[in-house]
Amino acid sequence: AMLEKYNVTPETRAFLEAGHQKMFIDGQFVDSEGGQTLNIEDPSNGEHLLTVPRATVADLDKAVAAANRAFRSGPWVDMKPNERQALLFRMADVMEEHAQTLAELEAIDAGKAISGCQEVDIAGSIDFLRYMAGWTTKLQGNTRNVSCPGEAFGFTLKEPIGVVGAIVPWNWPLNMAMWKMCAPLVVGCTIVLKPAEITPMSMIYLMKIWQEAGLPDGVVNIVIGTGVEIGSPLAGHPGIDKVSFTGSTPVGKLVGKAAMENLNPATLELGGKSAMVAFDDAKLDDIVTGTLQSVFFNSGQTCSAGSRLYVQRGLYEKAVDAVAKAANEMVTGDPLDPSITQGPQISQAQLDKILNYIESGKADGARLVCGGTQPDRPGYYVEATVFADCTNDMKIVREEIFGPVLAVIPFDTEEEAVRLANDSDYGLTASIFTQDVSRAHRLLKKMEAGTVFVNTHDAMDSSLPFGGYKQSGIGRDLGPEQLDHFLQVKTVIMQL
Ligand code: NAD
Repeated sequence: AMLEKYNVTPETRAFLEAGHQKMFIDGQFVDSEGGQTLNIEDPSNGEHLLTVPRATVADLDKAVAAANRAFRSGPWVDMKPNERQALLFRMADVMEEHAQTLAELEAIDAGKAISGCQEVDIAGSIDFLRYMAGWTTKLQGNTRNVSCPGEAFGFTLKEPIGVVGAIVPWNWPLNMAMWKMCAPLVVGCTIVLKPAEITPMSMIYLMKIWQEAGLPDGVVNIVIGTGVEIGSPLAGHPGIDKVSFTGSTPVGKLVGKAAMENLNPATLELGGKSAMVAFDDAKLDDIVTGTLQSVFFNSGQTCSAGSRLYVQRGLYEKAVDAVAKAANEMVTGDPLDPSITQGPQISQAQLDKILNYIESGKADGARLVCGGTQPDRPGYYVEATVFADCTNDMKIVREEIFGPVLAVIPFDTEEEAVRLANDSDYGLTASIFTQDVSRAHRLLKKMEAGTVFVNTHDAMDSSLPFGGYKQSGIGRDLGPEQLDHFLQVKTVIMQL
């Protein structure tokens, strides 16, 4: 229905009008061996969009075999670093040429606001690919002054770890896949990636344009299927050498165990319940921007969302009013409408989960300041919601809701703020809002989180590593730190 209302690119139209799209194995667009399919629906109205293959383990085996062939022979292996870098830049260029189509497919498939898709999902993905591509020609081992007997020369080589099995969630479908693929491609690995089974569209389209840009066969393979049917066998597949996962903490633990069965390292980017800590001297605008960029952005479906806001008593009521005003100003509507700021949740199941959390907040005695209900329209929408006067023992403060629901909690002293912020199983991000530079420095060291923001929340940069402390994960995506997760160190000792 949205296709009639909005002016999409001819490519988006053709993609959807085909009614069926295939997955990508060994440079071919293929169906699953048994011909099974999955239905993809539009979360803004529940309507059927198209079908995609539902892979079997036989399909997965083919993809892993293709990735192994590509890793060990053929054009990918023979490529010089500068040639690979040029290829990666071409791949970024075609993404830029097709940016509008990628953004539209993402908006339609995942129900994400088109403006966010353009500015963050797609633009951020292209920026990250270009950032990482630069490292292709800059990888290095080093030489050592060895003391071993005789006259010896010792040095290290950095080598690609092999075939990477990657599994990604539905909340940032293309962007999370890019976080998984760029570093392995830079170092010369090959990839078998499983998108979330409900959001495969942008990845399928990406394979079409990357193939045109010259990506050799078998270097990236996309298998589509459910977590149990394909995700779990991929994580434990003996034919891969490294696992890279983004998703929930419980599934991440299963994936990590499966990887360990083969002694494969696993990078795990997991859930969060990130704290924002605002002192009396903070600027209200900064706090509001922090919530708009994190817990109210992407319908709250962001791992690093600042979903717990701790405010010092002197600013408390003003801050509650300011974030409630921002929540009330969120504009819901069709994902393709450039003026909206909030699309639907991804599915009925997610919507139900969020509504249940809202009920639990009310039952636990939190003060519902705004939102809390499902607007009267088709699709899986929920109003941006603010609860005040929360406490750390409430479920809405402890558990990841993954929706636009903010819990606000008052505090008095710096010590109390640190204790409350760190009182969480998760440790993905945290933020400090203050005009006192000394306090910011003092507290950022105390925060148990992989990323600490000061006077902002959820600002990201391709050059800065991102990942979790505690139950939020192991390892880092982005930045040069990520490259090491896909490299082996080979030691060489030459007796002269
Ligand atoms: P999920 O864990 O349910 O699913 C993630 C992926 O794992 C999907 O592709 C799914 O099909 C697959 N999967 C499911 N069960 C599996 C199994 N048993 N074995 C292997 N794979 C399996 O998570 P989700 O609901 O899709 O995504 C939301 C979660 O992702 C949230 O917890 C969020 O915080 C997290 N997330 C984290 C980051 C980060 O960088 N830390 C980024 C985005 C999302």
